[in-house]
Amino acid sequence: MGDLISIIVPCYNEEESLRLFHTAVKETEKKMPDCRFEILLINDGSKDRTVEVMRELAAEDPEVSYYSFSRNFGKEAAMFAGFCNARGDYAAVMDADLQDPPDLLPEMYQILKSGEYDSVAARRVNREGEPPIRSWFARRFYSLINRISEADIVDGARDFRLMKREMVDAILAMGESNRFSKGIFGWIGFRTYWMPYKNVERVAGETKWNFWSLLGYAIDGIVNFSHVPLDIASWFGILMTALSFLAIIFIVVRKLLFGDPVAGWASTACIITFIGGIQLLCLGIIGKYLATVYQEVKKRPHFIISETSREDAKKIG
Ligand code: UDP
Ligand code: MG
Repeated sequence: MGDLISIIVPCYNEEESLRLFHTAVKETEKKMPDCRFEILLINDGSKDRTVEVMRELAAEDPEVSYYSFSRNFGKEAAMFAGFCNARGDYAAVMDADLQDPPDLLPEMYQILKSGEYDSVAARRVNREGEPPIRSWFARRFYSLINRISEADIVDGARDFRLMKREMVDAILAMGESNRFSKGIFGWIGFRTYWMPYKNVERVAGETKWNFWSLLGYAIDGIVNFSHVPLDIASWFGILMTALSFLAIIFIVVRKLLFGDPVAGWASTACIITFIGGIQLLCLGIIGKYLATVYQEVKKRPHFIISETSREDAKKIG
């Protein structure tokens, strides 16, 4: 029967794009005669008619199954639910807004078939249609995280990639609660081919990201894949201690030689607030890691499915 490819689609308020997406994927499937698709639609607690569209699609097309979360758990959880329920020899994660062009799938599949690679990932070569300030911050983020973490995270990489079963199993074995997929994909290794393509804008609906949510996403990525901020906090502490030693010697010597002219409260106040600020910052960094540890220790499930078209679905995971 050929290879089964699982297409995992996280959806949050995608009522307008979902049908267009389905049609496009079906077109692609026709171009791949030696494969079958299964399309897993994950409804991440949408507030519009997304789940109704999913029900219709699942009724019309036996290759479609849907999984509806009990609330919004985030795209990472939706991807994880998809991986948990994927049965394919290969799996791909795709956005519902057609920003991940299905046309790339046949070529990705050919590359995997040739046996040299374990996954093929799409990589945007331009960021057209994106606010320039956002692109600038995104580039800074990628150059920073690659310097301070061991996971190899490529600039312009999307979550869109086709991968072999072995890689899916490795991803499932990563049980952490804070799932930063770009880091997870990088951390598990395997041979990845980066396929460049031109950025495509959304077909319908609008993006769920704003500047602050992206900043939070970037901080999560760093905290989950690097301990360098903790080292920086310690080095700052050491530096400050050394400086204050020098200052103490200076003050004592001055007192012995010249007496104690009372002056300079302004500079003292500045120094105190400055050091106080640095201490709070370092405490904040430590707190952030501690919160992450707390979340991991609780071992809460990543997702809860309240409605699905499949009887044997993994509903909590
Ligand atoms: N998404 C999701 N849960 C969320 C936010 C987004 O499942 O809480 C899905 C969304 O429906 C889309 C994909 O993740 O299929 C990417 O979202 P979006 O297009 O907003 O991100 P962008 O392409 O702008 O990075
Ligand atoms: Mg998008």
